[in-house]
Amino acid sequence: MRKGKLIVYTGYSGVGKGTIMKKLLSLDDRVRLSVSCTTREPREGEIDGVHYFFISKDKFEDMIAKDGFLEYATYCGNYYGTPAKAVDDMLEKGYNVFLEIEVQGGMQIMKKRPDCVSIFIVPPSFEELERRLRDRGTEDEETILKRLAAVEEEKNFVKYYSHTVLNDNVDRAAKEILEIIHNS
Ligand code: 5GP
Repeated sequence: MRKGKLIVYTGYSGVGKGTIMKKLLSLDDRVRLSVSCTTREPREGEIDGVHYFFISKDKFEDMIAKDGFLEYATYCGNYYGTPAKAVDDMLEKGYNVFLEIEVQGGMQIMKKRPDCVSIFIVPPSFEELERRLRDRGTEDEETILKRLAAVEEEKNFVKYYSHTVLNDNVDRAAKEILEIIHNS
């Protein structure tokens, strides 16, 4: 029997998942966020081992071969994956573990771990989402366009998630998420 709950936590690029996540971590000490591996370049201010484990394509493919990922996917030309052991260790210790992952990975987890809680964060409007993605200023135009195309694709997957949460206000959204977990 696993003690903690596994949470698939997904949302469009720029929707504010990271900000809500920080709030969740500050509100509840049973919440933990899984640190993923990725082959994309770090953004300014991102720290290896904190935001992601930034690894090479070769190393990533080696981990795939060794069955080291609970799930993994390609998103906008880069690999992203959840290291399996770290997540299971945290669940064993009773933590509620959030996987901040995109839809392909989310679907893999729902299949593999049907007892997971799945939450999709949606924006008040898609105009607002595009503005936020651009205002963030962390990506070049080509990457922004790829991410906007990914949003269109991701809309088709919202229906598979057991909960959708509107990010109209960070505090409110975080409280709603904690309630969902409490009641699941
Ligand atoms: P970003 O490059 O903005 O940090 O992340 C791009 C997308 O990849 C986001 O939707 C993010 O949630 C997702 N992502 C981050 N880590 C993982 C992971 O381990 N697996 C999967 N499938 N997606 C991830």
